[in-house]
Amino acid sequence: MNKLQKRSWAEPFKIKVVESIKMTTREERERAIKDAGYNTFLLKSEDVYIDLLTDSGTNAMSDRQWSGMMMGDESYAGSKNFYDLEKNVREYYGMPHFVPTHQGRAAEHLISRILIKPGDFVPGNMYFTTTRLHQELAGATFVDVIIDEAHDPENEHPFKGNIDTQKLEDLIKKVGADKIPYVSMAGPVNMAGGQPFSMENLREVKALCDKCGISLWFDATRACENAFFIKEREKGYQDKNIAEILKEICSYFEGLWISAKKDLLVNIGGFLATRNDEVYEKACNMVVVYEGLHTYGGLAGRDMGAMARGIEEMVNYDGIRARIGQIEYCGQELEKYGIPFVKPIGGHAIFLDAKKILEHIPQEQFPAQTLAAEIYVDSGVRSMERGVVSAGRDAEGGNKHPELELVRLTFPRRVYTQAHIDVTVESIASVFENRKNIKGLKMVYEPEYLRFFQARFEKL
Ligand SMILES: *Cc1c(COP(=O)(O)O)cnc(C)c1O
Repeated sequence: MNKLQKRSWAEPFKIKVVESIKMTTREERERAIKDAGYNTFLLKSEDVYIDLLTDSGTNAMSDRQWSGMMMGDESYAGSKNFYDLEKNVREYYGMPHFVPTHQGRAAEHLISRILIKPGDFVPGNMYFTTTRLHQELAGATFVDVIIDEAHDPENEHPFKGNIDTQKLEDLIKKVGADKIPYVSMAGPVNMAGGQPFSMENLREVKALCDKCGISLWFDATRACENAFFIKEREKGYQDKNIAEILKEICSYFEGLWISAKKDLLVNIGGFLATRNDEVYEKACNMVVVYEGLHTYGGLAGRDMGAMARGIEEMVNYDGIRARIGQIEYCGQELEKYGIPFVKPIGGHAIFLDAKKILEHIPQEQFPAQTLAAEIYVDSGVRSMERGVVSAGRDAEGGNKHPELELVRLTFPRRVYTQAHIDVTVESIASVFENRKNIKGLKMVYEPEYLRFFQARFEKL
């Protein structure tokens, strides 16, 4: 291509407010990570330079959203912000009913309790930590029915979030449709590396569910990113906009739940939305017990105001293009150093392949946990483990050994610049160069639930 014809993507916004971040020395960081039990979740955020721990609730809100916060109607019942949000849930997700919750897992709690009976099976495309836990706490056994390609970090399948309809059909035959209250679908699939499902696959899954009389529910937390990949990669969608694709995706589902801390560009919030009157009535009954009245669900009016405006902004193509462009840029730079990570580059994060990078450290010594700690010590960049610690224990009490042993670099929306990405890549490259000298960890404290959040380690 002619150099003069090149046009890079750039953010469709400029910076109006800035927040200072602390620069630390290597010694300070060594002390901080030791005090944190080598768990990046236990670091104090003020000891972190570039925070890629998560994109959950770490979004920078727009001036429109901040002004929406000032318009918060903090009435106990019937807040104006609730009705603004309801209008947008109907318009953008196409769901007539919705119940706000304080975050995504609260909506997962409600829907799991409403739909699941003890002894049921819930198939899903890989799992998400809180989603699976709530399904299990309600008495179900979770069954992974994602395509095999999703478990291979090098496989370049464009839709690694797809459900294997054969696996789903086999499960239905084995346990019976009446033991499957719903199929739980998410996209892009976080644990597979931010990998989307295709509209074609969704239609096939829906057809199978209809044939067997099973309902289909959607974890729509990152649905706009999934819609972006459909637009980029799937035939027939190039000329559709994100809002149209999102609406079509949602049309195949009986209902959905959301953590607003992702797509919706806010810092807190979630909801459950459905076209099923009966489920809606039950959710209204339950939400008053666990969250608050059905018109605020544990949120302030101003939070719902920011969510309503966030929905309008999340479907902006240039916004998602810039977000995913930043992640692609990071991947391209890592590639220059030959650092292994999950391909194709996902929707919200880069997943470093810790099994490959620290191949001399066995999974029982937590290679991904170790790598995340080393990157922090090198530069103050905070990432997180997605491997044997996150996977938890199996029914016999042993560690589950997931095939993927990853370190996730997750990019907050509208927060960091390309120069921050450069520093991150340079730091990972220097850890990579020194990888042979890195030793593993042993776990010295393990909490009962979602252990990755609070587990503590010591250096071997
Ligand atoms: C974040 C997330 C959740 C849980 O939501 P919280 O708001 O953190 O409770 C559920 N599913 C997916 C796909 C998520 O990314």
